[in-house]
Parts: sequence; C-alpha cells; structure tokens
Amino acid sequence: MIIDMHTHIGKCMNFNMPSENLIKSMDKYNIDFSICSDCEATEFDHNANPLPKEMQKSQVQSYKQAITFARKYTNRIAIMPWVKVHTEGITSEFVKVLEDNLDITVGIKIHPVHSYINFNSQKVEDYIKLAEKFDLPILTHTGNSNESCCQSVYKMAVKYPNVKFIMGHMGLGTDNQEAIKLIKKQKNLYGDTAWVQIKSTVQAIKECGADKIMFGTDNTIDGLDTLSVNPSGERSLYQQYFNELKSLISSEEYQMLMYKNSMEVFKLKRFFE
Ligand SMILES: [Zn+2]
Repeated sequence: MIIDMHTHIGKCMNFNMPSENLIKSMDKYNIDFSICSDCEATEFDHNANPLPKEMQKSQVQSYKQAITFARKYTNRIAIMPWVKVHTEGITSEFVKVLEDNLDITVGIKIHPVHSYINFNSQKVEDYIKLAEKFDLPILTHTGNSNESCCQSVYKMAVKYPNVKFIMGHMGLGTDNQEAIKLIKKQKNLYGDTAWVQIKSTVQAIKECGADKIMFGTDNTIDGLDTLSVNPSGERSLYQQYFNELKSLISSEEYQMLMYKNSMEVFKLKRFFE
C-alpha cells in the first residue's frame, strides 16, 4: 500500500495539474490514496508579487474545487485546503465549508512562499488555532526563504504542542540537516519526502524515528509521470523510493514511511473501512 500525503491539483502560473491527471498517475504508479491541495489559492507569484486579481480564486472557491474532486473519487482522495493567509484569513464561510466537509478534510495546507508570509506570524497562528480546534494537522512548505524557514515552523510547534506540523520538503533547496535536527527535537513536528533525496530520508528515519517521516511527492507538478521522470527526461528521484529504498531500511520502517504514518497522523482509517 502507498499513501501520498502531498499532492496537488489546479492550474496557476506555471502549475498545470488537472485533477484527472492525479488519478491517472495514481493508477499508473500504484498509489492507493492521495491527500491533495488545490494550488489555485496561490496569492503571490515566485517573486513575491501579488497575483493579478483575474488570476486569483478565493480560498473557498479553491477549497470547493478540491471537494468536488474528492467527492468524485471516494476513498481515494482526501483534502487539505490551501488557504489564503495573507489576503483573506479565516472567514465564517470558510469555517462553514470546513465543518460541512470534515469527513474528507484531513489537514490544512499553508504555503508561506505563495502567501508571502512568515510561518511564525499572527495570521498563520489564526489558522493554527483553527487546526487545533478541529484536531487537524498542518502541512506547510519549508524551504530556504525567510518566510518558509524551518525555524519558524519549529517555534509554532513549540507554542502549539497539540497540533501536528509537517514540514513539507524538510527544507527545499537545503541539505535537510536543520529540518532533521528540529523534527528530532520536537514531538509534534514531522517531515515529508517531497523532493527529498533518499539519503536524507534514511538519515531522518534513523535519527528522528521511523514514525516522523511520511511519503509525499508534489504529484503531479511535473505532469502525469512526475513519479518516473523529471522534466529533463531523467529518472525521477521517486523511483528510488519505490525501489532502492527498500534495501536501505527495514520493511517495517518502509511501511511506516509509505503509508502507516500518514494513516495515523491524518486519521485515514475511515477511508479504508
Ligand atoms: Zn507542494
């Protein structure tokens, strides 16, 4: 069994991820279940410029698109709404949609780069409090910018010990060492494998504990075959997760990484009954 806890749908800027492609990719690469976020709630481009109005959708619109998709593929797709922390914040409408769709909503996705906001800030804290209220984990993009640095996530994890925080990418564009150090230190901090070299993943499993790291990929960010080839035509690093990694860790550690931890953290058992 494989659960991919970090996937996307939607079309925005250079992202073009039709929802049906995610299902096709899951069929092709034997992924049993995906947790997805709709990227159309992006607020700022890659250079921190606000997206033009005509390119923006509201956080509720984006959430509803993901809901429609998840309802179509019962027991294969769950959602983490991608939220507009900077320009919208929590509204009663958003909370209502959340409450009405808790059966398929398993977390909240925050992207400090595309929301151009530091994870350690009041506006993000509002969402953390909401996550705490509904007992939902938070997946946040981590990388080497100020906004998305691992330290900011760590600070929030210390402040909100009842909320589980997943550092997506374990610091994208870094050697992952800081993320690994912090995940090891803080009980409610986790990491995912999206664009993480298997060397770092093996190290993280050994140092932080096999229960702290989850398989996630950003599928289908590089298209239908994100899990087999990268845009330059080379073998995708995810092929190493499906093959080589099995001989580098125990079979129990492998199963924890590939599905058991996600099952636990996101409370997914209900989708498999
Ligand atoms: Zn992502």
